[in-house]
Amino acid sequence: MSDTILLGVAWPYANGPLHLGHIAGAYLPPDIFARYHRAKGDRVLMVSGSDTHGTPITVRAEKEGRSPAEVVAEFHASFLESWQQLGITFDLFTTTSTDNHAQTTQEMFLRLLERGHIYEDTMRLLYCNRESRFLPDRYVEGTCPHCLYDGARGDQCDNCGRPLNALDLLNPNCKNCGDIPVPRDSRHFFLRLSAFNEPLKEWISPRTFWRRPVLNWTLGLLNEGLQDRAITRDLEWGIPIPVDGWEDKRIYVWFEAVIGYLSAAREWAQRQGTPDAWKDWWENPDARHYYFVGKDNIPFHTIIWPAMLMGFGGLNLPYDVAANQYLTMSGSKASTSRGWAVWVPDYLSRYDPDPLRYILSVNMPETNDADFSWAEFVRRNNDELVATWGNLANRVLTFTYRNFEGRIPRPGELDKRDRALLSAAAETFEAVGTHIAACQFKAGINACLALAQQANRYLDEMAPWKSLKADRERAATSLFVALSAIATLAVTFYPYLPFTSEQLFTYLGNTNTIEATGWRQPVLEPGTALVEPQPLFRKLDPSVVEEEEARLGH
Ligand SMILES: [Zn+2]
Ligand SMILES: [Zn+2]
Repeated sequence: MSDTILLGVAWPYANGPLHLGHIAGAYLPPDIFARYHRAKGDRVLMVSGSDTHGTPITVRAEKEGRSPAEVVAEFHASFLESWQQLGITFDLFTTTSTDNHAQTTQEMFLRLLERGHIYEDTMRLLYCNRESRFLPDRYVEGTCPHCLYDGARGDQCDNCGRPLNALDLLNPNCKNCGDIPVPRDSRHFFLRLSAFNEPLKEWISPRTFWRRPVLNWTLGLLNEGLQDRAITRDLEWGIPIPVDGWEDKRIYVWFEAVIGYLSAAREWAQRQGTPDAWKDWWENPDARHYYFVGKDNIPFHTIIWPAMLMGFGGLNLPYDVAANQYLTMSGSKASTSRGWAVWVPDYLSRYDPDPLRYILSVNMPETNDADFSWAEFVRRNNDELVATWGNLANRVLTFTYRNFEGRIPRPGELDKRDRALLSAAAETFEAVGTHIAACQFKAGINACLALAQQANRYLDEMAPWKSLKADRERAATSLFVALSAIATLAVTFYPYLPFTSEQLFTYLGNTNTIEATGWRQPVLEPGTALVEPQPLFRKLDPSVVEEEEARLGH
């Protein structure tokens, strides 16, 4: 029985290249999840796209004297290249600049307006007299009223994570010209979030399986009580408001970007030539929606987007919001402006994708912040990927290839130790699938690694290279058992390490890919011709640590 699953993945602002924090936070987890479910035969739709309207884009464009569209084009192309090289397999990665997205947004806006969930009111906004304009939230900086962090932006505090109103900032100043902005009245549309407080509480109460930080953070905001929020802004860059007389204002980016999950599903369906196919995910009550976002995005996906969907009616709400915490860089928060980050295109110019997918998976910031350091990267690459997993696969395959005419040997009678490893492989196969389906990605890859360690111990004990001369059948049996464990690991590692797992699957004599064969534990056929194996991973020189650390912050 196949499941129907929508994966909504955070929309990155197209204002700079991706860094490792983005990948660990929001992009690798859904790809692991999607690869597993596709292999299992489920109907998966994984969508996202470049967020092209946010003020981060106009900030960069103004700074560089370019148009926002030029900035967007550059980084959207960069994202697409990163996905391709890292093996992040979106069914559609679009942008919020499409006509389809504007139409879907306006449709949602008008329906919510018609149903009284959106209303018009006056709000005070910060106005920069020197520039004669209202300042978008991100153009204002000041002190957070909640935690007193003095680098808070007008939309959110990066220190305590709370969404803010620019007016609530203490000591605000204009990020653009440094002037002290003054409050001024402006007419805007508001989303009546306060009316959704109780319905949301009720909706969340059975969601005890959510990750602790996501659940607690959401319940905390609901218990404080939701405030209505303005969903339009005094801007020129963005989606027009579909109401006469509002031509000089735009729909605000946080309201519009989340609608991208719906508009992207529609666009995907149109591109497939089956324009109604999106309904299988959005209007089918059996479909489950998973959202993968960083922790700064939690309230938008557990409160605002569900409230909008409730107001709109007839569409599926999130099933799980598997938000991750932050990945710090050598102990400090990654920062685009300070260059304190490892950029994905830069990483990929020097190293392979799978080692990165590996380290970000074993160290995934699922419920706590995690740290990336080059020393850890080199250590895990050399000790775990190369020594534990890569060498296991390589030495068993090479030894078998050379001593058994390049074929999978026929096993003799199995002893207790053989059966122990085979049953561990069967258990690992079940466990990894269960972990991935529950969005416990770190536990899944750790189970894979534990089996690789067990297979290494088995091999050291059985030492087929010693038994080969005296008892060829015993050697054949040990190699067959070890190869079975390795074949299982090729499949269980596949959602995490797709490139090397597919490569290994070929060495094992499979003519189909893992993706095509599906999520099933391989059963080896004695006599199958192997393909002469090559090492799966490269050992890294310890000098890499110093070289790469010197690049940080420059
Ligand atoms: Zn704060
Ligand atoms: Zn100013």
